[in-house]
Amino acid sequence: MVFFGDSMLETLGRVVVFLLVVLVVLLASLLSLFFVMLRTKRILFPNFVLFIVSLLYEILCRLLSFFRVDPTLIDRVSVEMRNALNYTEFAATDPRERILLLPQCIRSIDCPARLDSLEGICCVECRGCAIGELSARSREIGIRMYISPGGTFTERILTRSKPKAVVGVSCYPNLYEGLLKAKLMGVPAQGVPLSAAGCVKTTVDCEEVMNKCKIRS
Ligand code: SF4
Repeated sequence: MVFFGDSMLETLGRVVVFLLVVLVVLLASLLSLFFVMLRTKRILFPNFVLFIVSLLYEILCRLLSFFRVDPTLIDRVSVEMRNALNYTEFAATDPRERILLLPQCIRSIDCPARLDSLEGICCVECRGCAIGELSARSREIGIRMYISPGGTFTERILTRSKPKAVVGVSCYPNLYEGLLKAKLMGVPAQGVPLSAAGCVKTTVDCEEVMNKCKIRS
């Protein structure tokens, strides 16, 4: 049984080749832009880059891994770009109407904090990890702080506490996702990457976090 005629197959082949060429050109332009931005520390065409990244995220990660380049490069550049794009809107909000979202992996392994189904992990400021300091300093400036136990907590807390803006701390891949979710929910966000990532006993630069929390226009 014949499904396609010769001319149909030829047209299909041309379309596939055309799409492949477009894909290669897009990928090459994007990767060149990434390296130029990293070298010059300037942000170029952020909306275009973020759109293409969200479209080709998996392919880009695989491509970088194939060439033995750290695939988190995509997340790093994307996070910096989202921070820059969100800056003006974020800065216009009152710090007391913002929330600070922290990952639980920063906690000490002996953390005495209890888990509340609505509030997340409730730090008692035992000072066993950086969260104790962040908790005390957040209280001083009136920003609400939450420690996420993971899963869908981030979305739930954004929906329930209705912040005007959010500062999120996480590893680069999770920050990339979190900033995208906040954007889709209409909440301007700033992301701070962990200074040492991993599953437990991670660390973050408290000064960097507090500087983001205190941004004013
Ligand atoms: S400072 Fe808070 S989060 Fe850190 S270990 Fe102590 S109670 Fe747990």
